[in-house]
Amino acid sequence: MTILLSTLNARYAHASLGLRYLLANMGDLQDQTRLQEFVIGAKTTEIVERLLASAPRIIGFGVYIWNVEETTKVVAMLKRVAPQITIVLGGPEVSFEHGEQAIVKLADYLVTGWGDVTFPKLCREILQGPTPLMKVHAGIQPPMAEINMPYTLYTDHDIAHRTIYVEASRGCPFKCEFCLSALDKTAWPFGLDTFLAELESLHARGARLFKFVDRTFNLNIKTSLKIMQFFLDKLEANPDDPVYAHFELVPDHLPDALKEGISKFPPGALQFEIGIQSFNPEVQALVSRKQDNAKAADNIRWLCEHSHAHLHVDLIAGLPGEDVASFARGFDQLVALKPHEIQFGILKRLRGTPIIRHTEQFGMVFDPYPPYTILATDRIDFATMQRLVRFARYWDLVANSGRFTHTIARMLGSAPFDNFMAFSDWIYSKTDATHRIALDRLAALVSQWLQLQGMSKLDANELVGSDYAGRMDAPADKAKPAVSAPVRQARHLAA
Ligand code: SF4
Repeated sequence: MTILLSTLNARYAHASLGLRYLLANMGDLQDQTRLQEFVIGAKTTEIVERLLASAPRIIGFGVYIWNVEETTKVVAMLKRVAPQITIVLGGPEVSFEHGEQAIVKLADYLVTGWGDVTFPKLCREILQGPTPLMKVHAGIQPPMAEINMPYTLYTDHDIAHRTIYVEASRGCPFKCEFCLSALDKTAWPFGLDTFLAELESLHARGARLFKFVDRTFNLNIKTSLKIMQFFLDKLEANPDDPVYAHFELVPDHLPDALKEGISKFPPGALQFEIGIQSFNPEVQALVSRKQDNAKAADNIRWLCEHSHAHLHVDLIAGLPGEDVASFARGFDQLVALKPHEIQFGILKRLRGTPIIRHTEQFGMVFDPYPPYTILATDRIDFATMQRLVRFARYWDLVANSGRFTHTIARMLGSAPFDNFMAFSDWIYSKTDATHRIALDRLAALVSQWLQLQGMSKLDANELVGSDYAGRMDAPADKAKPAVSAPVRQARHLAA
């Protein structure tokens, strides 16, 4: 095989849409190009051995915030054992501020931004000459109609076992400074009819779980409605054959026509990821996030009360101008709206994002290593930030896991943030751990916490037992190793 396209995905289920786009657009080189995906955590020697097995001349790596450290090791080893192979990098993690990046220094070429046209062009030049002189190639953005869609490249195995990522548009017109999409300035739609035909063919091949990576699915309501109608038609034609779609929404834009469409979906068919990030208007202004908070809250409430959609709502801690009290107010406000999950993220300083302009004024200190998590600001010191990090982890374990649905309401009471923070501090003092807490042990600890808050042992065990049928006093069993999810702020860049 002449060209390998490779990446380390965060999980096996995450089939790389970006690599499939490259393969779909290789033109005359497509027959000589193959995908080879890995999962983070694999041994570097095994990855290198498998890459070398097909004796490629070029390897193109997709580099993301969650795989840059491991990919750097792979590239370093390749350069030692097989220096004749040309290494080309691409992806959001190497598209900005790449001057000093170790992986870029090791590689032969770098394509920044869109690779659909520029990567195959570069490969042609490497293989057929003249040898490209420049190391860094700024990706050319072609008209959307000239980009081949990659969906036929999902294999039957992918369709049966992995998440099928799709995109009806690229880019985002908003400018939230913590987000790489802020640099897009606009959104570019793919041809809708062609896209719908691709969805049709994926569905005919058995795909039932579609995850849209569009930054803002509800930007163009006519398009949103047509895409939703595609899924409604499938559901109506065969109610016993469910189909499931995941979209990212901006929260303050839900016109009646869209609400009507959403309300037609049965339970289990729709999932929305909604970014609130902060309810504090001063913080929103500082990070250039335009959001009508009242409308956003109304829409989330409406979705909870009048639709069957499952809602994940995102908040970010550590933004400039936000202290713990202001974050807590936003958190409590969101809990009161009753979304199914609150994704509590800690700010990351993604390469290229304009958030860096606040560094000095707001004393923002970021970890210099991926995923570049905020460590402290002028309003949240390091120790407090670590308490928030643990809060986020325990929130996932107890609230978002859905394992304690009755118990969590009791734990949160009338001051959700403060009460859960107290629980978080307490459980950390008992376990010294945020991972590898077996479910039996977690349930026992939750019950113990409720007793410390004044509940009888019987009532506490009964309440926890109503959520969890395990043993309350069981010793910890062997916990499964934690699997790291892709960094949430960057998750939609998986494409
Ligand atoms: S956070 Fe969402 S709305 Fe803001 S720029 Fe990024 S993708 Fe667009």
